[in-house]
Amino acid sequence: MQRITILGATGSIGVSTLDVLARHPEKYQVYALSAHTKVEQLAEQCLRFRPARAVVGSADAAARLAGLLRGHGLRTEVEYGEQALCAIAASDGTDTVMAAIVGAAGLAPTLAAARAGKKILLANKEALVMSGQLFMDTVRDHHAILLPIDSEHNAVFQSLPHSYARDPGAAGVAKIVLTASGGPFLHRAVDTLDAVTPDQACAHPNWVMGRKISVDSATMMNKGLEVIEAHWLFGAPAAQIEVVIHPQSVIHSMVSYVDGSVIAELGNPDMRTPIANALAFPERIASGVAQLDLTTIGALHFTKPDFARFPCLALAYQALEAGGTAPALLNAANEVAVQAFLDARIGFRDIDRVIARVMNENDHGAATSIAAVMAEDGRARAAAARIVADLAG
Ligand code: NAD
Ligand code: MG
Repeated sequence: MQRITILGATGSIGVSTLDVLARHPEKYQVYALSAHTKVEQLAEQCLRFRPARAVVGSADAAARLAGLLRGHGLRTEVEYGEQALCAIAASDGTDTVMAAIVGAAGLAPTLAAARAGKKILLANKEALVMSGQLFMDTVRDHHAILLPIDSEHNAVFQSLPHSYARDPGAAGVAKIVLTASGGPFLHRAVDTLDAVTPDQACAHPNWVMGRKISVDSATMMNKGLEVIEAHWLFGAPAAQIEVVIHPQSVIHSMVSYVDGSVIAELGNPDMRTPIANALAFPERIASGVAQLDLTTIGALHFTKPDFARFPCLALAYQALEAGGTAPALLNAANEVAVQAFLDARIGFRDIDRVIARVMNENDHGAATSIAAVMAEDGRARAAAARIVADLAG
């Protein structure tokens, strides 16, 4: 029996994870679930999966959750706050941690899971983008197992040999090709992008996701973060990580080898496939995803990304090349700008303007410790907030 903690159980990835787990009750048992504010949804999940522990974001939310659970005679222990998230990630009671909190808030508990040597199913790309080398070192030093949930990285993982040890040269890898749908604005006139609404930006053509990652997909910052994520997961330099626009999202990513072979993973765009793959690895389990029928799809298309249309993609490559805490600055500025856009305080194109200004106006340092990374994160958030306030007038 594999015992699982889900950080971010009420989100899009969390819900898909529970859907896969529910199909295999003989294999998986839920140890703990977390949510930030969605107390009612978490209570329903607790009633169904009966975890030993549940964590929410505040004392008030914890009191409400405890009340709801008590009414049903459930003995789930209810806690709140970052320390409690770290505790359910590192506990002896769990084997596997699904890291599915969105944004920098997921860093501390995901690191706690790494320090405790857990099997980590990583959806929370922001944590890895921020802490890069430090995170990978922690995984190595504590013998944690890191399996990618991001569909592109899971596809690359499946397309590499099992023995792959973060060394493209040794494995004959020429390049990693990340596919990108291009999001909802792939063909929209660039000069009309300032007028798009949050709901338009969140209407992704292929994937149903949380609002932050949906906006990231529309700006293609999501792909930029994924380039940085691929660098850390697979040990490839930026020059060996290519992005290709593939609007159908059927090829989830591929690996090109020096002999000219290309190995790809294909499937219907549904996150339950990478989740099931990582949960059961190296075995295979049913995920609930329909089998791919290429004849109904007919044609697959590919184009190069337009960096003028998607400046965020270029900014992410620059941050990766700059190294140190530059990706942490990028990520923090992006989180603040995306939230300001979702709150209708700034326009869509202001997102890349805010990030570019934060990157230009703030020197980055060396990423020597998590404390240093968190300090840079805080500095970039404050700088981004000032620029947002300026733009919002
Ligand atoms: P979501 O917004 O649907 O869910 C986020 C979850 O995190 C929720 O359970 C929420 O309660 C929790 N949360 C939010 N803020 C928090 C905070 N400050 N402290 C603690 N918990 C908090 O997001 P999602 O789409 O499920 O994405 C989750 C992560 O997975 C993101 O990092 C995203 O980039 C990544 N990811 C998602 C998808 C997808 O298809 N949704 C695909 C690849 C990667
Ligand atoms: Mg992805």
